[in-house]
Amino acid sequence: MQKIKNYINGELIEPVGKKYLNNYNPATGKAYSLIPDSDEKDVQRAVDVAEAAFPKWSHTSKEERSKVMMKIADLIDENFEKLAVAESTDHGKPIWLAKMVDIPRASANMRFYATGILHFASEAHSMEDSAINYTLREPIGVVGCISPWNFPLYLFTWKIAPALASGCTVIAKPTEITPMTAYLFSELCIEAGLPKGVLNIVHGLGSKAGAAIVSHSKISAISFTGGTKTGAEIARTAAPMFKKLSLELGGKNPNIIFADCNFDNAVKTSLNSSFSNQGEICLCGSRIFIEKPIYEKFKTEFVAKTKAMKVGNPSDDSNKLGAIVSKQHFEKILSYIELAKKEGGKILCGGNAVKPGEEFSNGWFIEPTVIEGLSYDCRTNQEEIFGPVVTLTPFETEEEVLKYANSTVYGLSATIWTENLTRAHRMAAKIQSGIIWINCWLVRDLRTPFGGMKGSGVGREGGFEALRFFTEPKNVCVKL
Ligand code: NAD
Repeated sequence: MQKIKNYINGELIEPVGKKYLNNYNPATGKAYSLIPDSDEKDVQRAVDVAEAAFPKWSHTSKEERSKVMMKIADLIDENFEKLAVAESTDHGKPIWLAKMVDIPRASANMRFYATGILHFASEAHSMEDSAINYTLREPIGVVGCISPWNFPLYLFTWKIAPALASGCTVIAKPTEITPMTAYLFSELCIEAGLPKGVLNIVHGLGSKAGAAIVSHSKISAISFTGGTKTGAEIARTAAPMFKKLSLELGGKNPNIIFADCNFDNAVKTSLNSSFSNQGEICLCGSRIFIEKPIYEKFKTEFVAKTKAMKVGNPSDDSNKLGAIVSKQHFEKILSYIELAKKEGGKILCGGNAVKPGEEFSNGWFIEPTVIEGLSYDCRTNQEEIFGPVVTLTPFETEEEVLKYANSTVYGLSATIWTENLTRAHRMAAKIQSGIIWINCWLVRDLRTPFGGMKGSGVGREGGFEALRFFTEPKNVCVKL
């Protein structure tokens, strides 16, 4: 079986303890590779070399840093097919999706920050004739980047790219559930000539390797994307050490559909925002609120189109949904469908595990599922499921739907569907979410602040926000 290795000091090496974990293909349910079960000794190794590499890398010119990052981006593009196949095999997502989103976005992330750093500037504040202040921004040091499994390479590079561009050296931990493309990425970093120790990738469990990164006294900042519970645990460890934290956490996003919307667009986009990537996107709209006059019409159309979606072999481009990422997550989603039934929900379509043929009979597939008849405040409508499961709920007034939308502990994203511009802006201002899409979903400009409110996170990624995160501002005041 293929053995994934840690990437430390520019080399691919075995974990100190020589222990490995199984890595599964979700479509077949079979282990197909091994990943290092790293611990604090591996993290210590990585920190030592990252510390040693920091003085040089942080003083390497922006242009030089940019150049090597651009080279890595080019290598991602050159290895497009291989990376897309690896992402689909490791994650279970359809290969067309990995080709359309994951891999192009990974090279785009590298290019975006490779060029963004060239335009990054800091502020100056003039006090008329008495003094002038200018702000220096220095790379913060050795930083930790911890990423989740839903967009493995895409979210991994979304953190690493601004950290490297800023001049930080990095200890990165991809999730143990989908480690393969991060491993292939480390090979590309070697090929691109990224200096030794600048980026170090330590594979392994969150509770072991991840926790060792978070609690390490020499790591000055943690950029984390993952579940809200894990985020709280990280904050508990990191806060007394005064580490800088960026936390991108879970969501339970509302899709609000008014009767005056462009109906066809609202249905089509809501299908995508419900079931893309098997509903395993933090930005998926899992609670669909529909204004009463069009509730029945929307429901009929939405359910008919959901039923037509095919689930199965991730390599077959006619399948809209592939496999659920892990057995544990598969069971969690099914348990939420059971909970919805217990809470009085009516399953309008889906609701079952699927076995799409002999080859995939042990894989973890679930039908896209639509549920109605639940109260806005029941557990199914309050807790993150993170799978192909959505609820439909009618509403009558703006006040009522605002109450529903803002009722969860989360506040990541929301969509609003209406042709009434004034209402759209009024709603956007009142919804408690970090990202609002009006008459669209997942339209992404990488320059914009990205992140959530309330239990969906602390801080923002994207654009210059991430470069600010990885740098320490120092104000210098000069008396005139
Ligand atoms: P998770 O919290 O289980 O794991 C995320 C990462 O943290 C993994 O690398 C894991 O190994 C590591 N980890 C786990 N415990 C740790 C600990 N104690 N200390 C340090 N690291 C630890 O999340 P997941 O299941 O991989 O991802 C799904 C979650 O991520 C969902 O809640 C989803 O909404 C969220 N997510 C959020 C965004 C966003 O931008 N807000 C984007 C994608 C996913």
